[in-house]
Amino acid sequence: MPQTSTEDRNWIAEAVRRVEADTNRSADTHLHVVNLPGAPGIDLYLKDESVHPTGSLKHRLARSLFLYALCNGWIHRDTTVVEASSGSTAVSEAYFARLLGLPFIAVMPASTSPEKVALIEWYGGRCHFVSSAAEVYDEARRIAAERGGHYMDQFTYAERATDWRGNNNIAESIFQQMAAERHPVPSWIVVSAGTGGTSATIGRYIRYRRHPTRVLVADPEGSAFYHGWRDGASDVTVTSQSRIEGIGRPRIEPSFVGGVIDDMEQVPDAASIATMRWLSERMGRTVGASTGTNVWAALRLIERMRRAGEQGSVVTLLCDAGERYLSTYFDDSWLVEHDIDIAPYAQLLKGYDATGRLRL
Ligand SMILES: *Cc1c(COP(=O)(O)O)cnc(C)c1O
Repeated sequence: MPQTSTEDRNWIAEAVRRVEADTNRSADTHLHVVNLPGAPGIDLYLKDESVHPTGSLKHRLARSLFLYALCNGWIHRDTTVVEASSGSTAVSEAYFARLLGLPFIAVMPASTSPEKVALIEWYGGRCHFVSSAAEVYDEARRIAAERGGHYMDQFTYAERATDWRGNNNIAESIFQQMAAERHPVPSWIVVSAGTGGTSATIGRYIRYRRHPTRVLVADPEGSAFYHGWRDGASDVTVTSQSRIEGIGRPRIEPSFVGGVIDDMEQVPDAASIATMRWLSERMGRTVGASTGTNVWAALRLIERMRRAGEQGSVVTLLCDAGERYLSTYFDDSWLVEHDIDIAPYAQLLKGYDATGRLRL
């Protein structure tokens, strides 16, 4: 390893300052109360990660990945940053790459929503498409090697780039914002997994702080996570592809820490999308499909708590807003094209609205 030049160290120091200054200018994200039709003793909260400058929970991850790479000496002036992504991480990383004046290339499945592609390009990033989610890793590594660039590799580094003990990570923020609620320590926190980084951070924080809170991970159809967790295996791969952008992977990602997860639930895509639309109407603003996945699992959990006579609070995440999916999940013809019938779940939610009871 050659010695780092003073010039290089100065560039890194300036880059870290810019990322820190960006954090300093940002406010914390809101924790909304979701009014439920039933279950009077149980409160549901939604941590709104769509209000970050780049519109999703991936803003936190991109910030952590850039700081980790900068402080490790992996990124220098003029380094091309390359990432494998299903879209949201690439949007946030394109933002930070521009902040640092670095070229950025996103490697993504061709099915990625056009709204996300437009955002990445708007931030000055370039998009490179592959036909399936399983191909993104090797292609990103290849492009980075070819250009002497850096493959960010969120699926490996998400869990370790984030400061899980605190530093105002998402878990610490949730517990602080819950402090004045009637059930300040949540019975459950419900998340879904893309890198698995969010569930790892929340699960570790809960153990570190010795809270009794449990973590439920909601997994979409066609994802390897559920099978790997259930069987205690880290080498599970599936050939199917998740249709819920941002979550569900073809392999158990290295960042997925199964040991901190108390329960998992498989959520049908039709349920995710029906709940996304139901919640969007209820809140008077649109949410994305992975938020639908989270809330569907949370509603079922709350119904089980209600039947067991339990009271308490449940926290889940609003991962991104619906504007990114107007031409996909919010478009009825897209649903027909993809053979997704949300009617049965829309019916269940309608019944829930009317009676306060959710048929399990
Ligand atoms: C990445 C992502 C998730 C899951 O978060 P991880 O920390 O990567 O597991 C959920 N929803 C959306 C929209 C995402 O982009």
